[in-house]
Amino acid sequence: MDVSQILDPLNDAQREAVSAAPGNQLVLAGAGSGKTRVLVHRIAWLMRVEGASPYAIMAVTFTNKAALEMRARIEALLGVNTFGMWVGTFHGLAHRLLKAHWQEAKLPQNFQILDADDQLRLLKRVQADLGLDEKKWPVRETQWWIGAQKDEGLRPQYIDAGADPWLQTMVRIYAAYEAACQRGGLVDFGELLLRAHELWLNNDSILAHYRQRFPFILVDEFQDTNAIQYAWLRLLAGEESYITAVGDDDQSIYGWRGARIENIQHFSTDLRSVQTVRLEQNYRSTARILDAANAVIAHNRGRLGKALWTNGEEGEPISVYAAYNEQDEARFIVERIKDWVRDGNRRDSIAVLYRSNAQSRVLEEGLLREQVPYRIYGGQRFYERLEIKNALSYLRLIANRNDDTAFERVVNTPTRGIGARTVEMVRTFAREQGCSLWQAAKMMLQQRVLAARAGNALQGFQDLINRLAANAEAKKLDVIAGDVIETSGLLEFHGKEKGEKGQTRVENLQELVSACRAFVGEDLPQDEDQEGAISLLNQFLDSAALDAGEGQAEEFEDAVQLMTLHSAKGLEFPLVFMAGVEENLFPHKMSAQEPGRMEEERRLCYVGITRAMRRLYITYAENRRLFGSETYNSPSRFIGEIPADLVQEVRLKTEISRPLYQAEYGRVGEFSDPPPDFDDLPPLALGGRVDHPKFGEGTVLQFEGSGPRARVQVNFDDVGSKWLLVAMAKLQPM
Ligand code: ATP
Ligand code: MG
Repeated sequence: MDVSQILDPLNDAQREAVSAAPGNQLVLAGAGSGKTRVLVHRIAWLMRVEGASPYAIMAVTFTNKAALEMRARIEALLGVNTFGMWVGTFHGLAHRLLKAHWQEAKLPQNFQILDADDQLRLLKRVQADLGLDEKKWPVRETQWWIGAQKDEGLRPQYIDAGADPWLQTMVRIYAAYEAACQRGGLVDFGELLLRAHELWLNNDSILAHYRQRFPFILVDEFQDTNAIQYAWLRLLAGEESYITAVGDDDQSIYGWRGARIENIQHFSTDLRSVQTVRLEQNYRSTARILDAANAVIAHNRGRLGKALWTNGEEGEPISVYAAYNEQDEARFIVERIKDWVRDGNRRDSIAVLYRSNAQSRVLEEGLLREQVPYRIYGGQRFYERLEIKNALSYLRLIANRNDDTAFERVVNTPTRGIGARTVEMVRTFAREQGCSLWQAAKMMLQQRVLAARAGNALQGFQDLINRLAANAEAKKLDVIAGDVIETSGLLEFHGKEKGEKGQTRVENLQELVSACRAFVGEDLPQDEDQEGAISLLNQFLDSAALDAGEGQAEEFEDAVQLMTLHSAKGLEFPLVFMAGVEENLFPHKMSAQEPGRMEEERRLCYVGITRAMRRLYITYAENRRLFGSETYNSPSRFIGEIPADLVQEVRLKTEISRPLYQAEYGRVGEFSDPPPDFDDLPPLALGGRVDHPKFGEGTVLQFEGSGPRARVQVNFDDVGSKWLLVAMAKLQPM
């Protein structure tokens, strides 16, 4: 029996964990220390040495992608098929279980999974049936609350509402919602876990079967399990099966979604004779990157305490770049990416990480402009996001009432009492008349063919669009966009979604306003004649459609990975950028309000830093337009927590005396492209003050292009931001 393949690629501590006699195990170790590797090799060991069949093994991973990778690695190690092994996420495994035992789980055979949007619609109906006003009882709040109960394993009958009228009502909604789901054969995400737990709890023979089947249960990223997941694991394991849990308390980043770090501590006391293994050698990152991560996380209290060291190389210092603004930041990142690829590296060795979804827009635009293929990992491109498509549909209707797709999309979003039946009637009418939906609706209103309620609602919608369009005349693009997201009710509608998701949607909507503002800036020097508002709007919509239409890089294409810090957990990349590392953005401003959240933000920072293998860039912008407004944030406290000797500041001096080409190209020797040849241009610098004969004084925001085509964006004190041709503009540095 040749086990060397399994044990050779491991260090002593890893080997101890992998080759231990069957038993409960807790592998508690920092990032990049080989926890996931131990899990994979442990499975191989159990199969090869302990004779476990693939059917005897259940492995829980953080994503479906991680599950696929795990299978592939085991197959490579053992040369066997892993068919029959249960590998997947908690939700995936629970679903599989319920499918197999739908009768005992009291579900119809073809039960459907209810996604968040469907869930909202259903909740709306349920609350309406109970006569509860949506204004007073926002459905998104109810949705969030019910999810939280399910994460804790609580059914309505077990919740003691006491004399609290609010709680009593919530429980009442929960119960009615549950009944409606049951009638419709619908299962939401939280229900998958809860129901799978109850399936075992209430069916001894099924539980016995699975306990016997799975003597070996292995869990990755254990620090992010919630109450019901932990209960589910323990129930399955019983007294006979063994759990191998690997995790890192310093990487617990889903507390806001119910995850419980304490599960790690409880594990050792809840289970029989747990072998605890600590891994201390990091194989992923250079010494400098690792030291930086260790230094940052050391600022948290109440850690379980772990040391991490590496005997890998020292590596390059961590580069911190203070960008002038978010555009400058994006351009800096794209330039570094191009350098890296020019040096012969693959694009998929690069990750750009950010705290908030909305930050991707500027980065995406930068990459698109330079035609660098990219992919958004675990998410959608900015212009493909639901809330953005909704807002764009309003803008499209303002520009063109006959845009049927836009009409369909938002006629009842946010809900305004225009039901599917009414829309169907409009469709039929339009088909018969051969006209657009908008025109059909208008005629139907004139001819009073609709019932009063539906008619009023539809009239309200047309009035809204007409009013928005009238307001749009002679307005700036960003003002129009701001008006649209407010007045349409989209901001409120998406904002009511509780928790991170609703907030993300709101931020994205606000970011659309930033996009509009930047677009006007980019729309070539248009000093004098303000273009017609609608024509500009049309140009913006075209460009947004093109951005969206580019589509993600093909699956096989070598592409840069963009993702939030949260979704980067468990992954590693030779080159990592952390963008937007500023106070209020990261740590997120919400974290200041809740105790414990700041430490969770810091853990997220630790996760980010430790994704980097060879090179790490941290960037922040001194001046940022994000979520539709302009902010001046200071660099994140997390940057300050990295010892200075590990950091190299890449800083563009904003001295006024610097000539333009230096401002644009002279950041730091190592990056310099040959300076372009344009001697006669005035010495302008980013952030410098200038005077224009017509617009007066202003501040230089950014440059683009070179030579005679060089353009400069100046934020004039009186007339706002404008793009000007440097060669023509007669700008005087002050
Ligand atoms: P995270 O906490 O980020 O999930 P982890 O502890 O799961 O990290 P792994 O992803 O398993 O760490 O390992 C990190 C890197 O180190 C991987 O590239 C892995 O292949 C490598 N590695 C792990 N153990 C060893 C070892 N003994 N020898 C060489 N390389 C190793
Ligand atoms: Mg891992």
